[in-house]
Amino acid sequence: MSTDEPRRSELEDALAAVRGRVATAAEAAGRDLGEVHLVAVTKNFPASDIELLDRLGIREIGESKDQEAAAKVAELEAMTRQRLTVHFVGQLQTNKARSVARYADVVHSVDRPRLVGALDRAAGAALDAGERTAFLDVLIQVDLGEGEWAGRGGTTPGTVPSLTDQVLAGEHLRLRGVMAVAPRGLDDAGLLAAFGRLAEIAATVREQVPGASWISAGMSADLEQAVAAGATHLRVGSAILGSRGPAR
Ligand SMILES: *Cc1c(COP(=O)(O)O)cnc(C)c1O
Repeated sequence: MSTDEPRRSELEDALAAVRGRVATAAEAAGRDLGEVHLVAVTKNFPASDIELLDRLGIREIGESKDQEAAAKVAELEAMTRQRLTVHFVGQLQTNKARSVARYADVVHSVDRPRLVGALDRAAGAALDAGERTAFLDVLIQVDLGEGEWAGRGGTTPGTVPSLTDQVLAGEHLRLRGVMAVAPRGLDDAGLLAAFGRLAEIAATVREQVPGASWISAGMSADLEQAVAAGATHLRVGSAILGSRGPAR
């Protein structure tokens, strides 16, 4: 444990800085800090960092690659795993759905009908096998890119209602809301406008599904704009864990 001490203080300092940024942004937006979840995106970093973050009060982590995530979640201490909510935030191939359904509590990157079907069957199989005990929470990933700004994954806004219907038809899925990654290259006003569009899309989803209140938006570089636009889940990696992981 003592050899972890330098890393522990590094994470503690970075986490304090991020929590400060979130608190300042929430206050500026007149929002209750309690409605903003901080998801620490631990991709490229070892399970030992997740253990340290757990000791520092982090209760939600994000991962974006199935193989890496499966191995790391399996390494966690039982108590740590029990306390944590595991969010899968990366692009997902249908052939990985079965694996992800074993360890993920939430999938943020639902972007096409085939993936909805695969996740629903995978969650059902995982429930039958006793590998999970709850439905799989999902978010619809929306592509906010338009015109010159390249998209960064997700379905187009116009297809969100039909994808919502498909998720609702799933037997083992629970729709919690929407997710987006901001298009690259936007300035402050552009980010606010993009996240504002996401909030409007979220409102139309809530008309269909009142309980789908989550808005997953904002990363290390743009969490302030996301909080200002109503984000409920921030996915923050490098600002907490550092800019590059150890070689794996
Ligand atoms: C890596 C990643 C993040 C975190 O990004 P940072 O810029 O390191 O905070 C958030 N969301 C997704 C989908 C990611 O892949």
